[in-house]
Amino acid sequence: MKSYPGMISLIVPAFNEEENLPVLVHRLMAIMEPYDSYEILIIDDGSSDQTRYVLRQLSNAYPVVRFLSFSRNFGHQMALRAGYDNARGEAVICLDADLQHPPELIPTLIAKWRQGYEVVYTVRQADPKLSWFKRTTSKYFYRLLRSVSNLNIEDGAADFRLLDRKVVNTIKEFKENDLFLRGAISWVGFRQCRILYEPAARYAGRSKYSFRKMLKLAAMGITSFSTRPLYLSVLLGFGMSFFALLFGAEATYEYFFTNATVSGWTTLVVLSVLIGGVQFIMIGIIGVYLGKTFVEVKGRPAYIISDTSEIEETATTWQPTSQEDDVLFYSPLT
Ligand code: UDP
Ligand code: MG
Repeated sequence: MKSYPGMISLIVPAFNEEENLPVLVHRLMAIMEPYDSYEILIIDDGSSDQTRYVLRQLSNAYPVVRFLSFSRNFGHQMALRAGYDNARGEAVICLDADLQHPPELIPTLIAKWRQGYEVVYTVRQADPKLSWFKRTTSKYFYRLLRSVSNLNIEDGAADFRLLDRKVVNTIKEFKENDLFLRGAISWVGFRQCRILYEPAARYAGRSKYSFRKMLKLAAMGITSFSTRPLYLSVLLGFGMSFFALLFGAEATYEYFFTNATVSGWTTLVVLSVLIGGVQFIMIGIIGVYLGKTFVEVKGRPAYIISDTSEIEETATTWQPTSQEDDVLFYSPLT
């Protein structure tokens, strides 16, 4: 995608955000008023509500609004990637659709960029409005991530940031399917600048990040930037061998100097269970990395776009008339 001189792109991932989008677009347009050239690119991540229809209406009404619709839910990170792949601006800002990332901060991000920073990222201040659960899981996730990888991502780092075109082009070069953007952006370097912000409450609807999605993101963050968990198996192997050596010495001693050779049954059972357990964990870890390799080797597209604002409306008004219409039976007898 060609970039336009001076243009600023705002990219917004949206998964079932029909109530938030009109409000968000109006707030963004008000804030972007003073800027000559900008676009709002919304990525509909396979929503099942009226999001796509709302987007079509918004893009018809305002030429600055563009959208892409995924053919199914590919997840927040993929939506952001599609945003980076298709943005046309010289600076690209991404923010959530639910207005938790205050749009009022955008002029500050742009001002920092104009000062010469190539990455302007934001860090969420510890906020009592966020649930205890979210705060704690987030804190421990970043702690774990920092300890297993070489990344230095701060607590509360959010996907609310401005990237210069140079950085966007670098991110686009990443061919891996499973890209943890927060990690990648910390990894690429460039002149980075940090801004603290206080998150607002979600405007409408519920969080679209289920516990399962959070776990998936955490696992992806760790496995895509570190192979250190694999060394765990080597370490444990050494530990267990040392233990076995001691145990062997003890058994030999008992064999020669005492008559109670059968008495070690409990120890044997405990040991074999323990070793079995450790082996399962290690096979699991190796399996996770092997699985990732498998997925990457296949080289499938990271996401699939089924509709965009650039394509004239064709099938978007399509609606199944009834439940039965979804399933057509073919019978060779009729
Ligand atoms: N989102 C997405 N795909 C998903 C889940 C979430 O595009 O599978 C979007 C969502 O619409 C929102 C942003 O990612 O714009 C952050 O999600 P959410 O606000 O639900 O997460 P939370 O703020 O609770 O962490
Ligand atoms: Mg949110």
